[in-house]
Amino acid sequence: MATGDATRQMTNANSRARTTTHAFRRAFRRASTKRVETFAAVDDRASADVGRSDEEDVRACRTRGADERAFTSPSPVRAGARARVYVNTANSDALRHAGKVTVVGGCNGWRCGAYERGMTEVRGTTWMKADIDVDANAYEMAYVFKNDGTKKYENNNSHDFTVGVEYGPTKEEFEEILKLNAVDEAARAEADAEVNREMSMASSNTGAGAKFEKYGRTIVRTATGEPLVSGTTASVFWNKAQNPIGGADVESLVMHVGYNEWIRGVEEKVPMRRASGQAQDVNNDWWVCDVPVSPTACVLNFVISDVEEKNWDNNEKQNFRVAVKNVADDEMWANIRELRFEEKRIAALRAIKNEKDRLARRAAEAAKAKQLAIEVGLKQQAFIIYTEPKVPQAGQPLKVFYNKKNTNLNWSGDIYMTSGFNRWRHAGAPAPMKMTPPKEGEEFFTAVVPIVPNDSWMADFVFSSGIGQGAQYDNRGGRDYHLPVTGGDAKKPPLHVVHIAVEMAPIAKVGGLADVVTAIGRVMKENGHQVEVILPKYQFFNNSVLLGGRQYETHFDWAGTTIRVEKCIVEGLQCFFIEPQNNMFSTNAVYGRNDDGERFNFFCNAALEFLNRTARQPDILHCHDWSSAEVARAYWQHYHHNGMPKPKVAFTIHNMNYGQAKLSEAVFHSQMTTTVSRSYAGEVSGSPVVSGNLQKFYGVRNGIDPDIWDPEIDSFLPVKYNAENCVEGKAAARAELRSRLGMSGWNDKPIVGVVSRLTAQKGVHLIKHAAHHTLSRGGQFVLLGSAPDPKIQAEFNGLANQLAGQDSGFFFAFDEPLSHLMYAGCDIILVPSMFEPCGLTQMISMRYGAVPVVRATGGLRDTVFDVDNEKERAAWEIAGSSDWKTDGDVTNGFSFEGTDAGALNYALDRCLDAFYNDRAWFRSLQKRDMLQDWSWNKPALEYEELYYKCIGQ
Ligand code: ADP
Repeated sequence: MATGDATRQMTNANSRARTTTHAFRRAFRRASTKRVETFAAVDDRASADVGRSDEEDVRACRTRGADERAFTSPSPVRAGARARVYVNTANSDALRHAGKVTVVGGCNGWRCGAYERGMTEVRGTTWMKADIDVDANAYEMAYVFKNDGTKKYENNNSHDFTVGVEYGPTKEEFEEILKLNAVDEAARAEADAEVNREMSMASSNTGAGAKFEKYGRTIVRTATGEPLVSGTTASVFWNKAQNPIGGADVESLVMHVGYNEWIRGVEEKVPMRRASGQAQDVNNDWWVCDVPVSPTACVLNFVISDVEEKNWDNNEKQNFRVAVKNVADDEMWANIRELRFEEKRIAALRAIKNEKDRLARRAAEAAKAKQLAIEVGLKQQAFIIYTEPKVPQAGQPLKVFYNKKNTNLNWSGDIYMTSGFNRWRHAGAPAPMKMTPPKEGEEFFTAVVPIVPNDSWMADFVFSSGIGQGAQYDNRGGRDYHLPVTGGDAKKPPLHVVHIAVEMAPIAKVGGLADVVTAIGRVMKENGHQVEVILPKYQFFNNSVLLGGRQYETHFDWAGTTIRVEKCIVEGLQCFFIEPQNNMFSTNAVYGRNDDGERFNFFCNAALEFLNRTARQPDILHCHDWSSAEVARAYWQHYHHNGMPKPKVAFTIHNMNYGQAKLSEAVFHSQMTTTVSRSYAGEVSGSPVVSGNLQKFYGVRNGIDPDIWDPEIDSFLPVKYNAENCVEGKAAARAELRSRLGMSGWNDKPIVGVVSRLTAQKGVHLIKHAAHHTLSRGGQFVLLGSAPDPKIQAEFNGLANQLAGQDSGFFFAFDEPLSHLMYAGCDIILVPSMFEPCGLTQMISMRYGAVPVVRATGGLRDTVFDVDNEKERAAWEIAGSSDWKTDGDVTNGFSFEGTDAGALNYALDRCLDAFYNDRAWFRSLQKRDMLQDWSWNKPALEYEELYYKCIGQ
């Protein structure tokens, strides 16, 4: 009876398995069925074609063109059917006068259906022929010919001969078949390995010698005292008196069961009951449950817990083992092998499907975020200009609304609108038109563009007080007003941007500059532009696993040495590496030599020389920080008039503190300068580096890469999560974080965290204060960071010692994996910087559902909006709304202005109060934070806009 149960269970699982697999394979079967049906219809023709007589072959070959070399019959050939291949030896240098010729072919890029056939003469001609069988899964076929005497090949000038294939799967379907085959193979190998191990355990009787006693008392037994038998259900007794789990009160226990030394982990959780008919006294408190013993078992492993799984008896870490007599015969093992194979195959297919679903979800999210970024951009100029429809549509008229009050035309009675398309490049621009003044009580002038052309992708506007000489213009500070057009059939022409930099993530990363170069490059490429990156070739590139595909590009003599250039695709971007043969960059670090300045200047000039010699005319040369600032000056002084007239120079300052003379020089020579957030741009505008050039100085915040920082796929987290299950995901991360930092176990205290370099910039005194304050408010404080300055490090060591044993954890190192766990495990992340050009930690925190508490400075101010004080500012900056009003509350954290402890308390206390007093609201804030878009979508639009301004469009 019991065996029957187990078998039935297996059969059920088996048929479930088959159903799922079949569902997965249906698409393929459909394709094959289609093929078979179509064959029935064409079979006659197919056999007539291929099976033609010698005379017919002679006729067919004689009617071919005089210089034709090869053909097939039929053409295209048919999947799964015979075809005939012909070659004219007279037209081939390799085959002329050949005695024996072989045709060598294969299908689908030589991935299947390979064949070699000797050819025979087509009588009385210089042609030869052979019959071949086309693989049933072919979607294309390639073939070449071999002169068996000389071993020379006729391969169509290295292109191979190719022919299409009918009635086979499509290329996509074939890829799917390959994937399914690979899944099958892996599942088969895993199943075999597992079952073979179990069989060998069973034959060596691994379960013998299992222990049943503890402190000399029986704590586990079976009903009969005999060993259990595989494939049966058995009663297993356990004596709670020997380990009073959770004390006498606990009346609900669970046995966690596995087999064969837990080979497949916990396989059953079986509820227990108090055993009746057993002696129950101070030494005996017998509990029992009915355990299904696996048909493969030779040992039964188990541990006991209460229902909440908080208290355990794991037999002092040895677990319990009970011997099982294994009675599986060959047929049973064979069945199990198949069952395991199906199970593993389904798990793999399900994982593939889940990943596909996740990617689709991610793509939809990303598309939505992109659209939102455009909407926010439109919304932010809607107090000056907006249109009906809101996003201009190709092929439709467009009504334009313009409010002069917010512009330099405030004084003018009349307003004229000059419009155009495609950044003024479209020939169909309407004539400038006088706008209709607003009605009484209204503010917006209006004008109608009769039609937005079908081949437009951008609508362009400037406004003026009149037409012609003497008129004053509102051209948005030189950038003009541009509104993206949707529904058009033309694509915007791509910009060609070349970054010249000394860092790039992940191959040469020292700081944020490296991430930004890669991220801007990637997002611009994604938006259809051409991006190239030029870097020095450091010594350590030779050992980089990411640069295995490096190839020689060119070399040239210049500045007394030879410059060798290699290329490689990194993160999807085309990179070039400059390697002067004087070993200037044979260094194992990016920085650190006392001639860094000279070396990088040399690099910048060599990079320009490379561009010039390869006749490149990019639209934009983008250089970064002091280290490639030289590009701006050198380009305008040496290259602009000597072969490279087109480029304009963009310059980004990531760090104001180094090489100020070089920075100033590049600001002067560049057509636009940016720094890494709008607020920071404002804060440093008084610096002599930029103060003379504010008209071309912009702040564009950095973003994070939402695919790299994604708790849903983050392998450093114990439980992956998204906004929907963030409570469970974060709870698991909290537990793991506490155990990693040696803090006490499960509890409900809020965790406040800091992930930071510990330098004066980061607000060291406030971090220390926050540690004490968090503890005084009943929370836990954790810190991951280290101080380059030994004095500061000593202060933090002191703090860690002082708080040891209390609710705190300190980890002084740079530890990337642990940083992921910090963001996931913390409820609150604190960033109390004295100044912060952009800052990434607050954006990463939000993506992981940790609420940011920050000092409102630089990029922190541009990304964190106080829940109590900044609803309007948040709505203005990040809400996308269909009616230009707010989309509800989009605030996302807590902020403070001052630099003293009281200022910090003001923000941190409100955050902790929210955690303690209104957990549901706090959770909703965490979820809201996780869904906000701090990627490069919005900054990319701003960069694109600035690039166009830079080239005067
Ligand atoms: P900054 O570049 O000034 O140090 P950012 O906030 O721009 O500050 O970037 C800091 C980055 O470094 C973040 O990605 C953060 O997670 C990471 N980080 C800082 N300290 C550590 C650490 N001790 N271990 C791991 N990652 C760290």
